[in-house]
Amino acid sequence: MNQTTIKDSFILKGGLGLHSGQKTDLYFFPAEEDQGIVFYRGDKKVKVPASYRYAVPSTLCTTIEKDGVEVTTIEHLLSVCNGMGIDNLLVELHREEVPILDGSGYEFYCGFRDAGLKYLGKPKKKIKILETVSFKQGEIAIFVAPSDHSNFTFSIDFDHRQIGQQEVSFHLTEKNYIEKIVKAKTFGFRKDYQALLDKGLVKGGSNKNAIILDENGDIENIEEMTWLNEPNLHKILDQIGDFYLFDNLRIVGDLFCHKSGHASHLAFIHHLVNECQDHFVVLEDD
Ligand SMILES: [Zn+2]
Repeated sequence: MNQTTIKDSFILKGGLGLHSGQKTDLYFFPAEEDQGIVFYRGDKKVKVPASYRYAVPSTLCTTIEKDGVEVTTIEHLLSVCNGMGIDNLLVELHREEVPILDGSGYEFYCGFRDAGLKYLGKPKKKIKILETVSFKQGEIAIFVAPSDHSNFTFSIDFDHRQIGQQEVSFHLTEKNYIEKIVKAKTFGFRKDYQALLDKGLVKGGSNKNAIILDENGDIENIEEMTWLNEPNLHKILDQIGDFYLFDNLRIVGDLFCHKSGHASHLAFIHHLVNECQDHFVVLEDD
């Protein structure tokens, strides 16, 4: 199969950044082969590739930076690109943060679906895992093992009655992603909300764009949920987005994450690239 991009340009208007609360439009443009997913800060005239090479470790969102110019909260948009098999894309914005929209990947998906995808002249590439790579960081465990498929497993463990310990495994195909993952909204704990606000974060957060887990072990806005295990499905959405930082190539292997987040996903990619070069190979699609 060949690489893809979008057929037509389109705009998503006026979304708010989850953390900054700032409003920006997003302009999506087709891109050539081997360009990957690139953000363009129109206000600063700087292009930042959505690659681990430009990613900076951060816990609450995935951030890339070049020449002192950042683009933040890119993970849901990247997830939809990986999920829909979009290899090349230019995304222009005029603030630092990609809007949170409804907290899931759904509005990005609708934009791409309506614009349509087209094939380009070069084969798609993927990262084939040849040997198991594992990584531990305190309670966090991540490993990837050889497989003929792209399988994502996420295990969470939160001290909350409705969540607790859960594990979900997901076989990534375009169809499965659209049916089972793209609508999974982000989530947050009511007990953390004020402290995050005090730090100048989550200014664009609301009970419309995040599932809110309260101190009594209940869900404040259960009517916003599509699935009862949605927080776990959202962790898979984030995982699929963060691992697309690996040069916007889909990993073919069984990827398992326990209690990990954006910063440890990035650390794992660096571990794979720097210390395990013979454990994977970049292949062209047939
Ligand atoms: Zn997320």
